[in-house]
Amino acid sequence: TFRAVVVTKTETGTQAELTRFDEADLMEGDVTVRVSHSTLNYKDGLALTGKAPVVRRFPMIPGIDFAGIVESSSHADFKPGDAVILNGWGTGETHLGAYAEKTRVKGDWLVPLPAGLTAAEAMAVGTAGYTAMLCVMALERHGITPERGPLVVTGAAGGVGSVATALLARRGYHVVASTGRPQEADYLKSLGAAEIIDRAELSGPGRALGKERWAGGIDSVGSHTLANVLSMTRYGGAVAACGLAQGMDLPTTVAPFILRGVSLLGVDSVMAPKALRLEAWSRLAAELDRESLARLTSTIPLEGVIEAGSAILEGRIRGRVVVTID
Ligand code: NAP
Repeated sequence: TFRAVVVTKTETGTQAELTRFDEADLMEGDVTVRVSHSTLNYKDGLALTGKAPVVRRFPMIPGIDFAGIVESSSHADFKPGDAVILNGWGTGETHLGAYAEKTRVKGDWLVPLPAGLTAAEAMAVGTAGYTAMLCVMALERHGITPERGPLVVTGAAGGVGSVATALLARRGYHVVASTGRPQEADYLKSLGAAEIIDRAELSGPGRALGKERWAGGIDSVGSHTLANVLSMTRYGGAVAACGLAQGMDLPTTVAPFILRGVSLLGVDSVMAPKALRLEAWSRLAAELDRESLARLTSTIPLEGVIEAGSAILEGRIRGRVVVTID
């Protein structure tokens, strides 16, 4: 057996506890990994608390991302001792996940630990940071360069938002960081934000078209916030949408699209194809400022992850949280 956080179904909902798990009960897969680090993402908070039905199988070991060392493998690309990482593919939702000393997965889901990143650094980036990079890449593919104007980052003090702020600032964009936590203004400036705005400016019902404030942005918040970001995007701009911290709804009109040619770029990290993952991770290793990464990272042991799961849903977590396991 090994240590694991296990979510079980109860009469009233679900329950998470740190317990021991039998290796014989691991799910099918051709690679068994000794997990060294995982992280805390918004979706992990949902799985740990049961606040939304992201867990599709019980018992479940939550944790949507990990870094670790291959223990055994029948997959051609991996052998014992290889350092690997994983993001998404349903781990922690439909497949037993990362909050455990051991996991068994499909080798096709794994990516080698990117050259130049330690396991701890890769997990400081984690799924939130890799998603932030997918958003940067989507904006670039759309021709959004720093010369086009400022970019807004919503949920800026959160995980996706903090890494997005650091990545965009490093590439020379003028970053407008939207946050509900004014006390984090200095933190966001230290990551490279040029301006801080109060998220209340964006979180209520707004006009179909507002004043043109930015060339686009990265939104992890959804709902009215994304609608307002779109309505304030300059002619020909683009917004990458990846999250729903405010809500899954999108109360917008077609006005920004048909009158200003604004584009909404959807970003998914969970099922993203391997080539895109490899590109995102190699760019993260090359471009992410290590001092910023250290500044936006905190670390907790596996024992702390259940409590931290509630905190992230309440918006009390700043930046990224690494969970040390081994
Ligand atoms: P996080 O660390 O909790 O960040 C979310 C941030 O959103 C919070 O820190 C807060 O920022 C802001 N926020 C929270 N509640 C809000 C509200 N009611 N109204 C306005 N803003 C609010 O979570 P995360 O791990 O970065 O994930 C962020 C979102 O992206 C989640 O919805 C997650 O599911 C999604 N996501 C999607 C993918 C994908 O593949 N598409 C991948 C990763 C994450 P401030 O305190 O600065 O205002």
